[in-house]
Amino acid sequence: MLSGFNYLHNHSTMKRRLLLALAFTFALASISHAADKLKILIIDGQNNHNWKVTTPVLQNIFDSSGAFAVSVSTAPPKDAPKEEWSAWHPKFSDYSVVVSNYNGADWPEAVQKDFETYVKSGGGFVSVHAANNSFPKWKAYNDMIGVGGWGGRNETSGPWLYVKEGKLFRDPVAGGGGAHGAQHEFVVEIQNSEHPITKGLPKAWMHAKDELYSKLRGPAENVEILTASKSDLTSEMEPNMMVLNYGKGRVFHTTLGHADYSMLDRGFYLTTQRGAEWAATGDVKACAAVPADFPTADKVSIVTLEGYPQTPTPKPKPVDK
Ligand SMILES: [Zn+2]
Repeated sequence: MLSGFNYLHNHSTMKRRLLLALAFTFALASISHAADKLKILIIDGQNNHNWKVTTPVLQNIFDSSGAFAVSVSTAPPKDAPKEEWSAWHPKFSDYSVVVSNYNGADWPEAVQKDFETYVKSGGGFVSVHAANNSFPKWKAYNDMIGVGGWGGRNETSGPWLYVKEGKLFRDPVAGGGGAHGAQHEFVVEIQNSEHPITKGLPKAWMHAKDELYSKLRGPAENVEILTASKSDLTSEMEPNMMVLNYGKGRVFHTTLGHADYSMLDRGFYLTTQRGAEWAATGDVKACAAVPADFPTADKVSIVTLEGYPQTPTPKPKPVDK
C-alpha cells in the first residue's frame, strides 16, 4: 500500500515537473517567436469610412497571418484642440511597417516630417482604400502613394493612371481625380505575376462587394501596377494594387477595402498580408502560402470573423427606367 502511494505520489510530482518544464519551454518559444514578428502600426482616428469597424478587421488580417505584432495608434478626432494633436506623435521608427486607415485632417508638421524620414530611410508603408483620399496638398505623401482621389485632385495633381494595352499608362487628360460607381463584386486581374505579392496567385479572382476606385491621379512616379479591374464607370483597367519606392522605403497601395464586408475576403486578406510583409522586408516568405480557400475567377471567398460583418451589405442600386 505504502509503496503504491509513494509510486503514485512520485509519479504525479514527476508529471507536474514535466508539465512545468513543458510550459516553460512553450513560454520561451513564444517569447522568441514574438521577437521574430514584424512590428506593424495601424493609424486610424479619422476617416469618411467607419474606421472603428474596419481597424479590427485589419488587426485580424495581420494577427491571423502569424507574421506580425500589431499595434494601433488613433489620431485625435476632427476639430480636436491643438494640445491633443501635440500629444499625438507615433514613433514610426519603432515599426517595420505602418498601415494607414486614415483619411482626415492634416497631421502636425512634426509628425509629417517624421513620417517622411521614416519611409525615406527604409520604413514600409501600406495605404488602404480611402487613405489615398487623404492629404491632397502634402507632396511627399502623394509621391509615396503615387495616385489618389478626391480632395480637389485634378490634372494639376498629375496624370490619371491606368493600364492600357497591358501597360501602365499615364493619361494627362483634364478632369477630377477619384470616382467610383455602385458597389459590386468584381474581378481583380494580375498585371505582374512575378512580384512576391502576386506570385502563385490565380491570374484573376472575384473580389467581395467593394467600390471600384477609378480616375485616380497623382505624380505616379516610381510606381508599378500589380493588379487592375475593368471599371464599370470608365471602361478602363483601373489599378487596385500598386507598389512604389520612396527613397529607401517600399509602399504597398491597395485601393480595395471600402467596408468590413469588402475586407472579409480571402483575396484581400492574403494580398494585404503579403503587401505589408513586402513593404517591411522587400520579400514575401511568412505570408507566401496560398490558402486552399483563395477565391476563383467566378467565386468570392468570404473570411469568417466572429461578430462580423457589422455593416449591412448594400443591395444593388435599382436600375433607372
Ligand atoms: Zn469607400
